[in-house]
Amino acid sequence: MATTLTHHRNYIDGEWVVAASGETFDSTSPADGEHIGTFPRSGAEDVDRAVAAAKAAFDEWRLVPAPKRGEILFRFAQLLVEQKDALADLMTHEMGKVKAEAGGDVQEAIDMSYYMGGEGRRLFGQTTPSELRDKFQMSVRMPIGVIGAITPWNFPIAIPSWKIAPALVAGNTVVFKPATDTPALGQRFVELLVEAGVPKGVVNIVHGGGGAVGERLVRHPDVRVISLTGSRETGVKVLHAAADSLKHVHLELGGKNAVIVMEDADLDLAVDGIIWSAFGTSGQRCTAASRVIAHESVYDALASRLVARAESLRLGVGWDDATDVGPVINRAALEKIHSYTQIGIDEGATLLTGGEIATEGDLAKGFYYRPTIFGDVDPQMRIAQEEIFGPVLSLIRARDEADAIRISNGVRYGLSSSIFTRDVNRAFRAMRDLEAGITYINAGTIGAEVHLPFGGVKETGNGHREAGQAALDVFTEWKSVYVDYSGMLQRAQIDT
Ligand code: NAD
Repeated sequence: MATTLTHHRNYIDGEWVVAASGETFDSTSPADGEHIGTFPRSGAEDVDRAVAAAKAAFDEWRLVPAPKRGEILFRFAQLLVEQKDALADLMTHEMGKVKAEAGGDVQEAIDMSYYMGGEGRRLFGQTTPSELRDKFQMSVRMPIGVIGAITPWNFPIAIPSWKIAPALVAGNTVVFKPATDTPALGQRFVELLVEAGVPKGVVNIVHGGGGAVGERLVRHPDVRVISLTGSRETGVKVLHAAADSLKHVHLELGGKNAVIVMEDADLDLAVDGIIWSAFGTSGQRCTAASRVIAHESVYDALASRLVARAESLRLGVGWDDATDVGPVINRAALEKIHSYTQIGIDEGATLLTGGEIATEGDLAKGFYYRPTIFGDVDPQMRIAQEEIFGPVLSLIRARDEADAIRISNGVRYGLSSSIFTRDVNRAFRAMRDLEAGITYINAGTIGAEVHLPFGGVKETGNGHREAGQAALDVFTEWKSVYVDYSGMLQRAQIDT
């Protein structure tokens, strides 16, 4: 495989450097075991240097006019456009998703960078009338300082852009820690930012594990915001670790997303939406559909069609155009997914298809799991409650609309949701009643666009949103400014 990666190092204060300890770790392909690269296994000393660089760079970067900061993001977006195919190719190798989806991952970063680049000329605040004469008032967004961006491996180009593009346009500086499963993609992301003209110290990348690098970043007193996308368990740890320094914490965590199929649904459309949502990216999307809640009158017809479609999906390497479903990320993920098959069987669900590690031919070189569907699933079973993060779908029967909504809401998570129905009244009730940050009508659970808020309710997060205008609330603080031009003391609430 040809990658255009030129550095396998940390980038700190404008220099490509090895870890202070000199230690390294390897990135290998989940598709076939190919060696992708060797990266620094960093520690506290590396994090401290990166944070110091980002803190020093903040003094100047916050004063660069926001439209100029935005122009750097436009150049970055353009570089991503030029590199889209090469990045997608690297992603199929390092992370495993199929080429078309890898292109979509890069496209999301292109869209986000153009969108946030445009914020350089907006970053709107408010002006309001005053209750006093000869007084002017407004609110403005202020940058916060050093942002710690901690990302997972499943959207290795898109998710860094969701955090780093709004952070930069708002005038913050960044220390970025990518997942250890996708360091080459994190590295390429930063190389392109540097090429686009980000000054030294403004963006730094520190490779390494969640404990040594991530936790140090979270505890560092000079990091003012942590933006983490990851599992619920990591989110809880990060929230605890951040408490002592009272830093802002933005969490985007897991999901257990459901598609509801009512008796009046277009079943062909529902099957397409479910298969794409459940098995795209091998089920490793935070918005993946892992539950289908079907009205009992269409349950059997839907189940047999889903099984037939799942069995027709071709497993293979992501760079082969004939592949529908790529590998899962690593051996631990493969074993976790397979353990849930046993859990589902033990709980009394019916294994309708899949439930096996695929090892025929070249698949034995990677981590492949057969698209799996369980029927007769009770909503309280573990396979219907816990995030498996693989190609595993649970089919649940519902008596009526109210029952379907209750089952959909009956999990700790609340990221994405979906309903297939032709009844407009029913669709609007679902929009109102589904407990989720995202609701799709007559589409599966995946496919968010960058200019609307992205995130979840309940234990999927802590009330913030990524993307759209909402992202700016994570990376700025409001300041209210009052200008009294009356030339005399005017007392609010007293001199009315
Ligand atoms: P993970 O929680 O294992 O790791 C995420 C990141 O956190 C990695 O960079 C990891 O090194 C780091 N980390 C781990 N422990 C840490 C600690 N104690 N302190 C600081 N950092 C630490 O998650 P993952 O396996 O990489 O990703 C899959 C998870 O991410 C799933 O739960 C998925 O639902 C979730 N996800 C959520 C969204 C969303 O927007 N809600 C999007 C994508 C993925």
